[in-house]
Amino acid sequence: MFCWLSRLYRGFSTPTGRITHLIQSSLSRTLVLTSQRRIPEFSSFVARTNTCGELRSSHIGQEVTLCGWIQYRRQNIFLVLRDFHGLVQVVIPQEESAASVRKILCEAPVESVVQVSGTVISRPPGQENPKMPTGEIEIKVKTAELLNSCKKLPFEIKDFVKKTEALRLQYRYLDLRSFQMQYNLRLRSQMVMKMREYLCNLHGFVDIETPTLFKRTPGGAKEFVIPSREPGKFYCLPQSPQQFKQLLMVGGLDRYFQVARCYRDEGSRPDRQPEFTQIDIEMSFVDQTGIRSLIEGLLQYSWPSDKDPVVVPFPSLTFAEALANYGTDKPDTRFGMKIIDISDLFRNTEVGFLQDALSKPQGAVKAIRVPEGTKYLKRKDIDSIRKFAADHFNQEVLPVFPEASRNWNSPVAQSILEEQRSGLIRLMEIREDDVVLLTAGEHEKACSALGKLRLECADLLEARGLVLRDPALFSFLWVVDFPLFLPKEENPGGLESAHHPFTAPHPSDLQLLYTEPEKVRSQHYDLVLNGSEIGGGSIRIHDAELQRYVLATLLKEDVNLLSHLLQALDFGAPPHGGIALGLDRLICLVTGAPSIRDVIAFPKSFRGHDLMSNAPDSLPPEELKPYHIQVSWPADSEAEKSSLNQPSLPES
Ligand code: ASP
Repeated sequence: MFCWLSRLYRGFSTPTGRITHLIQSSLSRTLVLTSQRRIPEFSSFVARTNTCGELRSSHIGQEVTLCGWIQYRRQNIFLVLRDFHGLVQVVIPQEESAASVRKILCEAPVESVVQVSGTVISRPPGQENPKMPTGEIEIKVKTAELLNSCKKLPFEIKDFVKKTEALRLQYRYLDLRSFQMQYNLRLRSQMVMKMREYLCNLHGFVDIETPTLFKRTPGGAKEFVIPSREPGKFYCLPQSPQQFKQLLMVGGLDRYFQVARCYRDEGSRPDRQPEFTQIDIEMSFVDQTGIRSLIEGLLQYSWPSDKDPVVVPFPSLTFAEALANYGTDKPDTRFGMKIIDISDLFRNTEVGFLQDALSKPQGAVKAIRVPEGTKYLKRKDIDSIRKFAADHFNQEVLPVFPEASRNWNSPVAQSILEEQRSGLIRLMEIREDDVVLLTAGEHEKACSALGKLRLECADLLEARGLVLRDPALFSFLWVVDFPLFLPKEENPGGLESAHHPFTAPHPSDLQLLYTEPEKVRSQHYDLVLNGSEIGGGSIRIHDAELQRYVLATLLKEDVNLLSHLLQALDFGAPPHGGIALGLDRLICLVTGAPSIRDVIAFPKSFRGHDLMSNAPDSLPPEELKPYHIQVSWPADSEAEKSSLNQPSLPES
């Protein structure tokens, strides 16, 4: 565990063959990149000479000064000192002449900060610790200084000590001392650094900050509202810098990027946060292929090389293919279990719900093959899978065991004819012990249900010991050819943008925009990694008339809200397109963290609270006055009102 930092830096300092090639070809154009290959100097400008984690036998005999936290003490003889880099053993001097040093080192509580100076010596034979990178040496201390003493902690600073997330968030500054959090945040910083290098130094992008005080944008996510001192006027925090990056293109800054903070008032989930970070990119004179190559190169260049290298180009699927094969627009392509259309096998079925589905115009019978399902799934698993499909998708699911010696078939499944059984075996390449989960209904609904069951089954099989998804595998995928519009959620007669209203229609579907807009495909692309959407973007509409038509006629939005953008498009806007990568999600997947909160230094809780500082917090009425606003307390919030200015308890 403790050699992670050297791995991290070694990783970033030795490019892979592919990357070397990229660097070399770019070198010939402009740059000298030598400085990137250096291991950083961690002890410049400060009191220490070395970090705790870096000392080895090669340092024996050197006089060093170390600063760190006391990790633990053994029998008042040894003290283990920790910093971000690792652990080192310090020998507490026992001789009378060193009584004051001994007193400091023996009395300082665990997690106190100390500075020690002494000599690096080799450990006595037999006392080396091969599990510790610094395990061959120890420090013979000459002087010690207690820099700050630590009071009793709310939890132990040891990665293996379990603590609730609420407690970790309440004492985030302590949680950050863990090796895991140090690793996550340092890896994040390294990847962002490499991304900046790639974009600015290798490809001439310009890093531009855009405002966070902005105004409402029609469509899209819910925005946070910020009061202003002008009566009845509010700012909004941007969901993304979308409008600004397009306006930068009109302004001739034709390769923009930003590590951009974005805000959506939608609460937290494991992969969502009310504030999050995007690598936001926009380019002029580009098409989808250009954006895709740029992003593939960016990820390849910034990828930590202690992971398997990123292989480019990434495969791509159309939205329709993703839905038909995986039941989702963000398929996890690390494993098979694809959805198969078996409608033709069941044209003369006697099973009622299959007959029913096939009699409808969009009706189909679909199935997935669960490998070794009879071995790994229990009857109660199959029952809960069926219940899940019924509860969440209103879909009936039939388990079929085409080759199993053990037969759990329900009476309905027994009415599957022999020719259907052998057809299934052939079509789905069934092996002994496989289970088939079969459903029927409208194409999209049946696929969505099976897509979810596919993931549920994978989790179940893996919980039982079958490895389906290689944990070291990063499976990137482009999903393209999305529909431009979807039926509006709250009013299915109306349309809403599948991505956002600035997305350009697919050139071959342009005419449909005026006749059957619901059939128009868009120039929107999503980047998916291991079943998570980690990026999305589009080629934009750069024609003001077309943009006005989409906004006003098709989406029924108030164009006045966007008059500045529409006007800008009229003043010689270049064709342009872009993308945003969700940095938190990406780093979460790269580090294997369970939640994006584990790769953000100070994240919000599920309810969007900062449990450490207790934000959002109440303000007394006189402080609201300049904003001309007043709190209208809901009827049942008396308790909340009276707790004004009192710290609330953390959420668990
Ligand atoms: N602004 C978009 C988003 O945040 C990304 C893009 O279209 O470039 O999803």
